[in-house]
Amino acid sequence: MARLSDPVTILKGIGPAKAKQFAQLNILTLGDLICHFPRGYEDRTRLAPIEKLEVDVPGCFKAMVMNSPRTSHIRKGLDITRVQVADATARLNLTFFNNKYAAEQLQYGREYIFYGAVSGDFIGYNMTNPVFEALDSAPVVTRRVLPIYPLTAGLTNAAVLKAVRQALAVCDPPAEIIPASVRERYGILPAERAYYAIHEPASMAEAEVAKKRLIFEEFFVFSAGLALMRAARAGKQCAPYEDLNLTDFHSALPFTLTGAQQRAVEDIIRDLGRGAPMNRLVQGDVGSGKTMVAAAAAYCAVKNGRQAALMAPTEILAEQHHESLNRLFAPMGIRTALLTGSMTVKEKRLVREAIEAGEVDLAVGTHALFSQATRYKNLGLVITDEQHRFGVGQRAALSSKGCDPHLLVMSATPIPRTLALLMYGDLDVSILDELPPGREAVDTFLVGESYRARINAFIRRQVAEGHQCFVVCPAVEENEELGIKSATVWAETLQQTVFPDLRIALLHGQMKGAEKEAAMAAFARGEADVMVATTVIEVGVDVPNATLMVIEDADRFGLSQLHQLRGRVGRGKAKSYCILTSHNRNVETLQRLKALCKTTDGFKIAEEDLRLRGPGDFFGQRQSGLPTFRVANLSLDIQTLKDAQEASAAWIDAEGTADTPEAKALRERIGELFERAEGTMN
Ligand code: ADP
Ligand code: MG
Repeated sequence: MARLSDPVTILKGIGPAKAKQFAQLNILTLGDLICHFPRGYEDRTRLAPIEKLEVDVPGCFKAMVMNSPRTSHIRKGLDITRVQVADATARLNLTFFNNKYAAEQLQYGREYIFYGAVSGDFIGYNMTNPVFEALDSAPVVTRRVLPIYPLTAGLTNAAVLKAVRQALAVCDPPAEIIPASVRERYGILPAERAYYAIHEPASMAEAEVAKKRLIFEEFFVFSAGLALMRAARAGKQCAPYEDLNLTDFHSALPFTLTGAQQRAVEDIIRDLGRGAPMNRLVQGDVGSGKTMVAAAAAYCAVKNGRQAALMAPTEILAEQHHESLNRLFAPMGIRTALLTGSMTVKEKRLVREAIEAGEVDLAVGTHALFSQATRYKNLGLVITDEQHRFGVGQRAALSSKGCDPHLLVMSATPIPRTLALLMYGDLDVSILDELPPGREAVDTFLVGESYRARINAFIRRQVAEGHQCFVVCPAVEENEELGIKSATVWAETLQQTVFPDLRIALLHGQMKGAEKEAAMAAFARGEADVMVATTVIEVGVDVPNATLMVIEDADRFGLSQLHQLRGRVGRGKAKSYCILTSHNRNVETLQRLKALCKTTDGFKIAEEDLRLRGPGDFFGQRQSGLPTFRVANLSLDIQTLKDAQEASAAWIDAEGTADTPEAKALRERIGELFERAEGTMN
C-alpha cells in the first residue's frame, strides 16, 4: 500500500516530464491527486436512439458499422477516415481526423457504443470524432458518468483520470474526520465512499452526494478550527472590569453616539464586565463611526487600570487615529502614543520604554505594536482596525501573546453573511447599521471618455468652491499593454496640460512610507487641490474637505473596493460626488458598475461582489486570510456551511478533546489548514 504523501512518480506512466505537468496543477503527491476534484461531469450513462440525438448536444448511442472505414490521405498530416453506422432508427456518417485507432478498430458488421455530438446541415447529419468502445470492453469513455478535471497544457482529461484511478487503487483516501453521528444526522457519505464516488460516480446523483460530503468536510474543518479557538479563549479567565461608567466619556464627545454606536458600546461594556476575554467584531460601513466605539472600549480599559493598543493596517491610518484619539483623550489625562515602523530607532525606543513603564495608556500604531520588541506593562485590550487585512491566523497569534487581552476588531468592509460566518466564526458581532446624522449619500455617476471635458470642468468647480478631489487610477506605472491609466503618468498629464494652475499631488504604494505619509498629511492639510492616487487611499483615511472622487478605469476594481474608495468622500458637510469612468462596453461590467451608482448600502454591494467575483477576489487574494476551498462555493453552499458550523460547534462541545481516530485526524487537518491560511496573509 502506498501513502498519500508519496510522490505521483510512483504511479505507472508518470515520469519526471509528466510529473512536471501535474505540478503545474499543484499536484505533487498521491494525496494531491485524490483531492484534485472534477470541475464537472458528463452523463454518458444513458443510450439514446440515433434518431433522438439532438444537434450539438453530445450523447451516447449503440450502433452497427455499416461499411469498412475508408481513409483518405488529404495531405501531409491530414488523414480523414469515413464510416457509416446505423441503429434501428437511423443512419449516421462518422468522420475521424487523423485517427488511426478508429480506422483499425471499427469493423464492418459489429456493434459499438459511441459518444459524440451530431452536427447538422442541409446536406444531412454527420458526427465528427466521436469516442467509442466495443460492447464487451470495460466502460471508460462511454456508459458512465465521466468526470471532467481542471487541466493544464499537455495534460489530457484521460491522463488525469487514469492517474487518479491508479492513486485510488494503491492508497487509501484521506482518513475520516467527520464522526459517524454527524454523518448520520446530516446525511453525509463516509469519507472513503465519497473520495471514490467523486472520481468515479455510478450516477450523477451519486456525484452530487459525494460533492456534498466534500463541501461539508471543508466547512467542517474550518469551522471546527474556529470553534476550537473560541473554546480555548472562552476557557480563559481575566479579572472583570468593575468601573463601567462612561458618563465622562460621553460628555467629552463633540456629538451624541448614534443608536447603533450606542448598542455596540453596550455590547462591549457587557463583555468587559464578564471576566472572560472579549472577542468581538464591530462591523460597519465606511463612516459609520467605528473609531468612537473603539475609543469607548479603550476608555473603559484605561479607567480600569489597563493599557490598550489600537493597530491599524497602514501608517497613514495609524497616524490619523492617533491624532483624533489624542485630541479626545489628552484633556481627560489619558496618555496616548504613536508607534509605527517608519519612526526612527530612537523614537521607537523611547515610545517602547514608555509603554513598558506603563507611562502610555493607549498605544496606537501599526504591526510594530506587536513585534517582539514591544512589551506592555499591563495590556488589557487590543483593537485592530480593518481586520480583514490581518486574518484568522494572526488573530490566533495575538491571543497567544501570553496576556490574553480583550480583543476588539473593526471591519469597514461590509462582509457578506457567508464570509462573515467563516472569517469571524470565532467572534461575537456588533453591527453599525446606521450613519451619523446629516450624512448625505454620495451621488455616483458612470461615464465614458466623451465626458472628459465635463469631468475636468467639474473638478475645477469643486476646487473653485474650496474643496478637494481624489483621482484614483488602477496602476502605478504606465502599462501600454493593458491600456489603463497609471497614477504617475496621469498626475503628470493633469498637471502639465489640464490643470497647470492647480496643485496636483501624487500618492501610490511604491512610494516610501514616509513619502506617502507626507503626501497624505499635506493633502489633509489642504496643501493640494487634487490627489492622484492608487488604491493606497482605500483604507480609512479621513479628509472631510474632499468632495469629489474620480475613479479611472473603474471596471478594473471590484465592487466592494469601489465602495470603499467612494467612502473617502462624503465625510464632511458638503455634498459629495463620485464619478466612475470606463472604456469597457461589456454589458455585464456596465451593469455591475451601475449597481454602485444605485445603492450606497455596502452590504448589498458586498453580496453582489461575492456572487460575481468569488471570495478570492473579494479581499484581494493575499489579504483574505481565508483558506482556498476546493469544492465549496461560498456564495452557493450557504446551507451546508450553516450545517457544518452547527455540527462542528456541537462536536467541539461533545468530544473536541477526545481520543477517537476521527477527532485526532480532524485536529491534524485543522492544523494543516491554518498553517496554509497563515501563508496567504501579509
Ligand atoms: P469609520 O466607521 O469609517 O471608521 P469614523 O470613525 O472615521 O468612521 O467616523 C467618520 C466621521 O464621523 C468622523 O469624522 C467622526 O468624527 C464622525 N462621527 C462619528 N460618530 C459620530 C456621531 N455619532 N455623530 C456625528 N459624527 C460622528
Ligand atoms: Mg475607520
